[in-house]
Amino acid sequence: MPDTESGASYFGVQDPEHAVADLERFRDEGLDAVLHTFSERDQAFYRETMADIVAASHDHSLTVYVNPWAVGGVFGGEEFSRFVAHNPNSRQVLSTGERVPAACFNAPAFREFMHEWTRDAAGLGADVLFWDEPHWHNVHWYGDDHPRDVWCCRCTHCRDGYRERYDEPMPATETEAVSTFREESMLDFLDEMMALTREEGAENAVCLMPSQSADHGPRNWERLAENEHLDVLATDPYWDAFAEDADPEAYVSQFGTELVELADEHGLRSQLWIQGFGLKGESATDEVRTATRTALDLDADSIFMWGYDGCRTISEIACEEPMAVWEAYLDEVN
Ligand SMILES: [Zn+2]
Repeated sequence: MPDTESGASYFGVQDPEHAVADLERFRDEGLDAVLHTFSERDQAFYRETMADIVAASHDHSLTVYVNPWAVGGVFGGEEFSRFVAHNPNSRQVLSTGERVPAACFNAPAFREFMHEWTRDAAGLGADVLFWDEPHWHNVHWYGDDHPRDVWCCRCTHCRDGYRERYDEPMPATETEAVSTFREESMLDFLDEMMALTREEGAENAVCLMPSQSADHGPRNWERLAENEHLDVLATDPYWDAFAEDADPEAYVSQFGTELVELADEHGLRSQLWIQGFGLKGESATDEVRTATRTALDLDADSIFMWGYDGCRTISEIACEEPMAVWEAYLDEVN
């Protein structure tokens, strides 16, 4: 399927000379796009270096996506947030009143910080800014013993915003109005950042997690698809990471079908991500092949793997046989 874009995420290499060797390899392996992670650390210390790596990617005819890698603790990624450490008053607050280590989408200081990130990321020369897995903080991911129905965010900014919209105090339980407010807060945040991205000359992709919870933004994906600043609608149906005993074909198909249809209806490009981390056991390569073929059969415009070389270089999440996973993916997309 030559008109399907294929790519992979790339990270952890800050030396452009070393990165070039990988970019060359990706091109030789038939990929035509790459996603570069741009963390708070990169923004603070490696901005020009990252611009060199983006330029080298273009030299190799790769379309460049750039993502806010765990920036503010509210996007996906294996990184920490300095913003959260320095700005305790911009942190999300649980319904129990406890502050958590993630910035609030409604905190003015965080929005201001994200404006800078957006300008810097677009300024690297990125073709597309990839808003990856925006989410309200979920304490249950960190294995703690909070009650099941705890939620974020009930900080002063959120409570003020809620009162303004509904003319009543924000409840401590998650009512329908609270869920709607959480959704709308994230959509408003994304709209503001995506408008700026367009002004800065880049396109926008948003990757929604395969879930229908207000923890992850819009419960109804159409609400995002309608956004005038959006170019690419993406989801990452990681069958082994997000579901128990999920069949890769059924899982990718379940979320991929809806995504591709929505993207088509709204004149957007569709993008599906293939799990390339944390896979163990003999079935890993077959699962990757099945998932990739399913995405191709759905006619997605773009297919990416997270991440290059089966995440070989991130020991905590690497696949057991990372290169076998990577090669299975390359084999299917070529
Ligand atoms: Zn808040």
